[in-house]
Amino acid sequence: MRLPWPKGFQGRLLAAFATLLILAVAMTGIAMSITSAREVDAQMHERLETGSRVLISHLDARAEQLASAVNVLTQDFGFKGAVASRDQATLRSTLANHGERIGATLMVLIDQEGQVISSDASIKDPDRLKTMAATVAATGLEQSYSIGIQADALFQFFVMPVLAPEPVGWMVIAFEIDHYFAAEIAALTDLEVVFMGTTLNGAVHAVSPKPARAHVESLDLSLFAGDVFAAVGIAETHDGGYLTAIRGIGSDDDKRVYAVLGLPNSQIAQTMRLQLLQVVGILLVALVLVGAGGLTMARRMAAPVDELIRTARVIESGDYDAVIADNIDGELKTLGSALNTMRDAIREREQRIVHQATHDPLTGLPNRRRLEQYLAGITTPYAVCLVAVTDLADITYGLGHEARDAYLQGLAGRLATIPGVVLVTRFSRDEFAVVLPACSREEAMQQTRMLHHRASHPVPHGSSTVAGRIASACIVHPLDTDRSDLLLRRLDATLASARNHPERCLAFRPEDEAVRARQLSILSGFTSALERGEFFLMFQPKISLPSLRATSCEALVRWIHPELGFIPPDEFIPLAERSGQIRQLTDQVLDAAISAAARFHREGLGLRVAINLSTHDVADPLLPDVVRRLLDAHGVPGSGIQLEVTESAVMEDGDKSLQSLLALKKLGIRLSIDDFGTGHSSLGRLKDLPVDELKIDKSFVLKLDESPEDVLIVKSTIRLGHDLGLQVVAEGVENRGSLEILMQVGCDVAQGYLFAKPLKSDDLIDWVKNFNSQNLPVIDAVA
Ligand code: C2E
Ligand code: CA
Ligand code: CA
Repeated sequence: MRLPWPKGFQGRLLAAFATLLILAVAMTGIAMSITSAREVDAQMHERLETGSRVLISHLDARAEQLASAVNVLTQDFGFKGAVASRDQATLRSTLANHGERIGATLMVLIDQEGQVISSDASIKDPDRLKTMAATVAATGLEQSYSIGIQADALFQFFVMPVLAPEPVGWMVIAFEIDHYFAAEIAALTDLEVVFMGTTLNGAVHAVSPKPARAHVESLDLSLFAGDVFAAVGIAETHDGGYLTAIRGIGSDDDKRVYAVLGLPNSQIAQTMRLQLLQVVGILLVALVLVGAGGLTMARRMAAPVDELIRTARVIESGDYDAVIADNIDGELKTLGSALNTMRDAIREREQRIVHQATHDPLTGLPNRRRLEQYLAGITTPYAVCLVAVTDLADITYGLGHEARDAYLQGLAGRLATIPGVVLVTRFSRDEFAVVLPACSREEAMQQTRMLHHRASHPVPHGSSTVAGRIASACIVHPLDTDRSDLLLRRLDATLASARNHPERCLAFRPEDEAVRARQLSILSGFTSALERGEFFLMFQPKISLPSLRATSCEALVRWIHPELGFIPPDEFIPLAERSGQIRQLTDQVLDAAISAAARFHREGLGLRVAINLSTHDVADPLLPDVVRRLLDAHGVPGSGIQLEVTESAVMEDGDKSLQSLLALKKLGIRLSIDDFGTGHSSLGRLKDLPVDELKIDKSFVLKLDESPEDVLIVKSTIRLGHDLGLQVVAEGVENRGSLEILMQVGCDVAQGYLFAKPLKSDDLIDWVKNFNSQNLPVIDAVA
């Protein structure tokens, strides 16, 4: 099991604290154990010294006791008398009694000649006694005390003259230092005790308690060289496992008596161990106490840091409501309030960024992003209406940026203050989206019309006003779709339709979705169709009047979609124009058509090939070059082809198209205005264009035999064309009646199902050969 060590700052603080603590404790421990070792040493020495003092005072006390005992005896008249009369029987019994009473080992009475007068019965060595008596007599001591060796024993001696009143002899009392005495001293001092006597010849007499423990034999007495007796001190030796002190206690001529006191090393070690144990115990307790205190302190110190970190994390996660507790003190309080300030600044900045990201800086309205967020979150039904200014570029171009901005601001303000709307947003550069409360499609349309009407009103600007061209669309949730992203896409598409619708205000219709889906799949298949060469050409003959000869043909593109089948060019060409892919198609058509023209020429048909161009093609300055290269490549002269361009194509992008047309014209190519009468062309401009032909749109020709109005239009168009020096073609000639009328009014060329539908090139070749070989009257030829 692992201890739950705190993490992070707290843990590190605690670790540092613990390390310091352990270091401090270890150092204290070392210091304490050194001190305690010294202390134990001193203690031991002290014990030895005390022991020797006790020993000396004990010996002194005994000497004093002996002295007073001898004194009492020598003062006794009876005794004095017995000494004088040398009454042996009395003397012996007195000495024996007295000696027994005081516990003396030896009691001897010596006369002045050094002869032993009497002694107690215990004397074992009479010769030695005699010598002693002679020594006492010779020295003539009045009174003396000594410790010495007699025979093999150690003694305390006491000598006192016996006066009656003249000195009659000496009383000698001896007290043996035996193992009992040693035991007594040992008990008193709690030390090992050995008494030793040495003689000159090196003999040693040792007395110790029984059984003896000190290994006296191993004591190296040379350590005590010199007069140990005079210089009392402590010497020590550790052999034999003792700390030893030796003290000289008596000297007698050539003999010395020592007391050896010993302290067993095991006892010292034990004391040392106890001391150490104490030290360790104290340190352990200190460690626990200080550790617990440190832990609490580390907790207390780390708590505010933890609190700051926790709050910082909360702020980091984007929760700016996190508040740093104000119970923090000191520098951390400053840090805390700095963090608070920082959090406020971040919150403010984030709010500003979010606002900028979701609002339009010009009008202050929420933007499309905000609308999307709003719609994604809304669960109740609603309707959205889109109001677009379709000529914003014209306003900018005509009145300047300032007027445009003022206009948009004015319009935004107007829409935002319409009562009942839920949300008004600037949806795009020129579009505003308005969210309306739940309603039916009819109600939504009604509201949208109202918004459309209001938005169409001129907006005051300076002393004048600005009025934009408005288109509007609306969609209803969840009726039209319950997906907000799809809803906005459908609304976009509806607005696109509204831009081209006469009313310019439309509601989403589910049926339009199918059309858009089809358009989408056409568009998505277009590129691969170009790559795979899925497009091919059909050719429809154009018949010159009144000769009824096929002199040219029109190339019409065809596409069989792999899934959708035949798709009329009227459907896919506008889509290709919108998606910017028409140029690639035109290049393929031009290549195929010019190649066909070369072939028709080789077949000797004398057929010019007319090719349709779209508005984008005409505006492309590179087009003349492309055409020239293709003509060169196929070896076709410019006069071998004709280009059909719609009215709007030449009217719209004025200068650019004019340059292109002039360049094409220079190549010898004939130009014709297609679908004439459907667009709004200016006759003035028509006059300046380098065109050769007018093609009256088939809508005026199809029912020509039934409609006098169409006849009128066709008739005047032909006259106009002729007046301008142009050839006039009628397309969509489906019946004989129409052809007759066209011939009557002087039409130059006719094209239509009456003669032939668009044909494959092989079929066309056969058809033309056959048609032109017949030399029939006009009407029969077509029959
Ligand atoms: P458009 O240039 O007006 O072409 C004449 C259209 O009238 C052709 O339709 C033709 O098939 C059709 N038509 C001819 N005679 C009659 C008739 O007697 N009765 C009826 N009802 N229709 C007749 P198509 O081939 O469907 O082409 C439609 C349009 O697609 C063309 O109108 C032209 O604007 C465009 N288009 C065709 N091919 C090309 C092309 O290669 N490039 C470009 N840019 N547009 C092309
Ligand atoms: Ca045409
Ligand atoms: Ca046409």
